[in-house]
Amino acid sequence: MSEFEWIQRYFAPLAGEGALHLQDDAAIISPPINEQLIVSTDTLNEAVHFKAGTAPDKIAQKALRVNLSDLAAKAAKPFGYTLNLSLPIIPSPNEEWVTRFCEGLKADQANYHIHLLGGDTTTTHGPLSISITAYGSCKQPILRSGAKVGDTLYVSGNIGAGYLGLHHHSHVTAQHYELPVPRLDLIALLQEHATAAMDISDGLVQDLGHLCKASKVGANIQLSQIPLADGNYDRIEQITGGDDYEILFTAPPNITLPACVTAIGHITSGESIQWLDENEQLVVIKKGGWQHF
Ligand code: ADP
Ligand code: MG
Repeated sequence: MSEFEWIQRYFAPLAGEGALHLQDDAAIISPPINEQLIVSTDTLNEAVHFKAGTAPDKIAQKALRVNLSDLAAKAAKPFGYTLNLSLPIIPSPNEEWVTRFCEGLKADQANYHIHLLGGDTTTTHGPLSISITAYGSCKQPILRSGAKVGDTLYVSGNIGAGYLGLHHHSHVTAQHYELPVPRLDLIALLQEHATAAMDISDGLVQDLGHLCKASKVGANIQLSQIPLADGNYDRIEQITGGDDYEILFTAPPNITLPACVTAIGHITSGESIQWLDENEQLVVIKKGGWQHF
């Protein structure tokens, strides 16, 4: 089967509006009138982001979901994505693998009401690599840089499930690591209240540092307020671990919160981040978070 037959057999059935049935050079994107186009891209490489032998449908869904998480963090509603696949030339590109990969995409297209817009299919002498770019829209994205002194800091969900899942802590956390759930359910809340937001992919400690730096502010965090995936497990490991795909955001105090959102501290002037224990004592966190190099 030729490259073009592969594209038509496996990918064209996933294509939607603007994709021109994957028979043209480019796709056409028209965000809703008065909305801005919001774009995010992420690559997953075998052995770096997932283990060799991981189920192909799970790889596809994770590759898609980490991008949807970035759009959710900007309070943008996703509508489509492009897919760049680099398939190892040895052993030769495997139809069974691609079939199952596409089943994963199809399931999440239905879950998140999105469709395929285009992509590229190539072979490589290196490991399997998947790059997805997700497209969404909103009237006004929430940036990392908008936090104001006096804002409260909030997180969604529980922190540490990704880290614990990577280390096979339990079935539930393993599932969270393999298949995070992008917080698209928070888009409306963020649109209404958030002054700054980001998704937590590299650990709460490191990512809060990025948000504060972008906003040129500091923060005081009550460690005991942070909702942990496992309260009996080391707190510092869980808040520096990464792969949470929860949302960290700032908003005025006293907003009405859904059950999945917790206040963990507030924004201060200056640029230092203070982590405080139950006795208001400073805790020095030496670990950073995940970095590739
Ligand atoms: P070109 O040679 O112009 O770059 P390609 O031959 O790479 O085009 O691709 C032909 C069409 O198939 C394009 O519409 C492209 O978006 C689509 N396509 C190729 N690979 C994929 C893929 N992995 N997923 C989705 N669409 C793809
Ligand atoms: Mg091409």
